[in-house]
Amino acid sequence: MNSLPGTPLLSASNLRTWFPLRAGFWQRAAGAVKALDGFNLDISAGETVGLVGESGCGKSTAGRTLLRLIEPTDGSLTWHGEDLLRMSPKALRAFRKRAQIVFQDPYSSLNPRMDIGSILAEPMRIHGLHRGSEQDRTRMLLESVGLLPEYAARYPHEFSGGQRQRVAIARALATEPEFIVADEPVSSLDVSIQAQILDLLLGLKERLGLTYLFISHDLGVIRLISDRVAVMYLGRIVEIARREELFRAPLHPYTQALFAAIPKPIPGKKRFRATATGEVPSPANPPAGCHFHTRCPLAFDRCRKEYPPMTGGESHRVACWLHPE
Ligand code: SF4
Repeated sequence: MNSLPGTPLLSASNLRTWFPLRAGFWQRAAGAVKALDGFNLDISAGETVGLVGESGCGKSTAGRTLLRLIEPTDGSLTWHGEDLLRMSPKALRAFRKRAQIVFQDPYSSLNPRMDIGSILAEPMRIHGLHRGSEQDRTRMLLESVGLLPEYAARYPHEFSGGQRQRVAIARALATEPEFIVADEPVSSLDVSIQAQILDLLLGLKERLGLTYLFISHDLGVIRLISDRVAVMYLGRIVEIARREELFRAPLHPYTQALFAAIPKPIPGKKRFRATATGEVPSPANPPAGCHFHTRCPLAFDRCRKEYPPMTGGESHRVACWLHPE
């Protein structure tokens, strides 16, 4: 499917994904966890958008909602300019083929009872892809992620973490997608293996013209792979910029806090999670005004009352009252 020139591949506008809370013996409604609450993001064909923020900020919910693996509570979502929330079942099936996900944990995301050939053939059968024989396509998929074709006969437990993540990527490629949400795909791997998987993803993007939403808590990883970076806090994007610009001059105090918290990498150790000082407020009860004001050293009166709008130009936008224009 081709978009009209200038139309984003995927566009989310004022997206809300709320999970109801129940309490008491009768399980009565008692509010909601506002995992996404006014989430806006345009993703252009061929780019990699890195989505970063602390644990619990709503990153994974954003990825799943964009793929309609979770139904949003409100807002709009378009795919090639078409309304993704009101698509016919046939159009939705076509979308599911073109938009895939790679999960964080390659141990739990692959069925241990299926051999790798069957794991890769399953999505091809579901989506009716019959080009060439199944064995040929499985072989091609394995080779495309740097694995030997004979691995098709093996089971997930016979592979290392990095190899399993390669299989998970091959499974995502099996339906010939345009767009892949990669949700913390290297977080459970050692640093040396992380680099190999990131190289693989970058190479596949070049070769197959893919578009990625790359979700990570790790600014180091985000820097290696992203064209643009979106910083999320309590269900919303608070800053989005071209990668070089964000790393050169972060504007939002939350982004600055994440940068300040990056420790020097220790060889052989996993990277550290992005954090800022202070407690993250509950998404069931986000603070009034700017959600970051309870942790922001620069907060002033207006911050406690009004949520700041997104301001700035195409290459760098921020939601903070220190940057009102
Ligand atoms: Fe801090 Fe105010 Fe900016 Fe929010 S709007 S980040 S509280 S200065």
